[in-house]
Amino acid sequence: MTIAAECYFLDVGQGSSNVILLGERRALVIDCGRSASIPLQLLKRHVDQIVALIVSHNDIDHHGGVTDILVAYPKAIDQLYFLQDRPIEHLHLYAVVKKEHEAGNLVNPPLRLERQNKPRIIYQDESASLSLELYFPTFLDNLDAQKAAESNATSAVLILFCGSRRVVFPGDTSIDDWRRIRTRLGKAIAADIVAVPHHGGRLSQTRSTNKSQTEYQRRIADEQHWLYTEALRCSHAVVSVGTSNNYGHPRAETALALRQAQTVFLCTQITQRCHDELEQLRPGVIRPAFPSRSRPTQDRTPSGRSRNVACAGTIIAEIGPDKVTIQRLEQHQDAVDRLCRSPAGHPLCREMSFES
Ligand SMILES: [Zn+2]
Ligand SMILES: [Zn+2]
Repeated sequence: MTIAAECYFLDVGQGSSNVILLGERRALVIDCGRSASIPLQLLKRHVDQIVALIVSHNDIDHHGGVTDILVAYPKAIDQLYFLQDRPIEHLHLYAVVKKEHEAGNLVNPPLRLERQNKPRIIYQDESASLSLELYFPTFLDNLDAQKAAESNATSAVLILFCGSRRVVFPGDTSIDDWRRIRTRLGKAIAADIVAVPHHGGRLSQTRSTNKSQTEYQRRIADEQHWLYTEALRCSHAVVSVGTSNNYGHPRAETALALRQAQTVFLCTQITQRCHDELEQLRPGVIRPAFPSRSRPTQDRTPSGRSRNVACAGTIIAEIGPDKVTIQRLEQHQDAVDRLCRSPAGHPLCREMSFES
């Protein structure tokens, strides 16, 4: 099998960072997590030139590590893409990028992360049938999200194409974004792997009211079901999530929608929802691949909750024009199946109902 690229869905805990290795010590980087320590461990080992560094949106769990990557790769980042999703005085990257560009470390001025009439080609290698394309947002989508003060609503959607294979990186896109994308395309996107938007959390601004918890859950379930049947059909889904995240990521409604769509889904870290005694599982559901935020030894939050316990840890996929292969997939799925047979284990990715 020809491999055109290797895609790392990095275990950065709660956040997102994806690195696509292109060979010849070059890479594409999509988001950098809350801090750059994990992406930098990978980059320092395999990469001299970053062809494109793309920040899907300016939430800290996606852009936090960008500054350190800019500093670690002076004159070695061909193109930086980001967007304005909040008032300029709150746009952290503005000052950082301006400084690095003026100092000559970032050679080319940054580009706005926007498409026009057609998806925008960010990277293309015709000899390898490989391209990375931006499907969302347009400038108007960006302005709409700013008006609504909703940064996730302007998050980029990128698709890596390799022959007939596709990997989708949708940042933290909202359900309204997906309605726009679906209308523009006139059909669902079919993908081999999707990095699940917003870490498997809710995709709309709908908030829970104590008036009707069931109605709230039902609405989120309907949204997720629509997304994974009508807009985005994927055979594998990756949830980038931290063990101790306080957001309830991934939501049971997301897990159910993915299960109903017969999608195999993998989380980078296991959460409190899935096992009663997380310390029993260290170093992880499977031993994490390098590099990973997950720890082999006890690691707790100040309030005493376990954190950084690997589920799949960093997930590595080999991308070829005919085939996408997720390394250690069978091993991980077998390990999750075994959890179901232990009294303490009740993995969310195996449940078929969300109502408790
Ligand atoms: Zn976000
Ligand atoms: Zn996020």
